[in-house]
Amino acid sequence: MKRFDYARPMDLESAVATLSAGGEGTRLIAGGTTMFDLMKLDVEMPGRIVDINNLSELKTMETSGDELRLGALVRMADAAEDARLKAEFPVLSEALWKAASQQLRNMASLGGNLLQRTRCAYFRHGAPFACNKRNPGSGCAAIGGANRSHALFGGSDACIAAYPGDFAVALIAMDALIDVAGPQGRRTIPIAELHRQPGTQPQHDATLSSEEIIVQIRIPANAVGKASTYHKIRDRESYAFAVVSSAAAVRIENGVVADARIALGGVATVPWRASRAEQALIGRRIDAQTAAEAGRIAFEGATPLSHNAFKIELGANVVSDALMIAAGRA
Ligand SMILES: Cc1cc2nc3c(=O)[nH]c(=O)nc-3n(C[C@H](O)[C@H](O)[C@H](O)COP(=O)(O)OP(=O)(O)OC[C@H]3O[C@@H](n4cnc5c(N)ncnc54)[C@H](O)[C@@H]3O)c2cc1C
Ligand code: SF4
Repeated sequence: MKRFDYARPMDLESAVATLSAGGEGTRLIAGGTTMFDLMKLDVEMPGRIVDINNLSELKTMETSGDELRLGALVRMADAAEDARLKAEFPVLSEALWKAASQQLRNMASLGGNLLQRTRCAYFRHGAPFACNKRNPGSGCAAIGGANRSHALFGGSDACIAAYPGDFAVALIAMDALIDVAGPQGRRTIPIAELHRQPGTQPQHDATLSSEEIIVQIRIPANAVGKASTYHKIRDRESYAFAVVSSAAAVRIENGVVADARIALGGVATVPWRASRAEQALIGRRIDAQTAAEAGRIAFEGATPLSHNAFKIELGANVVSDALMIAAGRA
């Protein structure tokens, strides 16, 4: 691991200033469970680390009002255990519970979870493999290589890496907002605009600048969160990233669907909202047939690679099962 300078500012303003002053080789850490991993693998080689763990403003969790506010430094385990999340937003609590191991959830922050980097093996393990995300312009070894875990949606000729996180998939279904602070002040980014599809610049995962810090995640209270779930299929049940996952939520009025939310994980370069499948459910009763149809629609337009076509049928079934679970809670 390369030597680096270390700073631990005491408040948000100084943290932003330290990040801005540090320049290109400066990186922020929260729980460090992604960042230190990547530093040991020489994927990330920062000259300076800005540790934000003293920023008390980012540690608060307010879940009693009309809008839930989760600080970026709240640990995944603490948010997963929150009584209101469990009762009124099971999709959020389950997405956190089904992510990583208990030890990791105790350490890892919500902000860090959103901005974790891909698990593409060529990205993590480097030479002799080409990887445009790790080394822009070098090519993409996954396109003709081992691409079982890669994306069916949102890929480009430059990169097909799947977004690995669970929580952002659940948040996108709940239309969450992300408040960030930077040298120009504060701004709010809808979660659907936080992550970038790779296009020709896969080295940039998010729309945040390197000088901006996520302060909190806001979730508008809504009537659809209660009948929701996060359904995740993984290779190993104890802990593993999603092969395919689906966040699903429904609001039923007079026996038919008045609102539906479906988002997909493990199959796209960014957390992926399946809007056409949602629309197809409006005004209809949810039963095995309509749920299966929504699952099929969610995977229309998927672009399979040499080793991941199996995810289309699996994914359609995961969406269908998620909808049946959500509807059972309505
Ligand atoms: C074995 C293993 C299994 C895992 N399984 C899963 C899984 O199944 N599902 C899942 O979702 N995740 C999984 N993870 C990933 C894990 O959840 C993330 O590593 C963790 O959430 C990252 O949080 P952190 O606080 O440790 O982030 P850090 O490592 O500190 O940071 C991660 C990135 O986020 C940036 N960052 C952190 N906080 C902020 C902020 N407030 N503002 C701006 N940028 C910020 C950092 O600069 C860095 O780029 C797994 C990890 C491991 C090691
Ligand atoms: S899929 Fe993306 S991260 Fe993986 S090798 Fe290709 S460019 Fe790199």
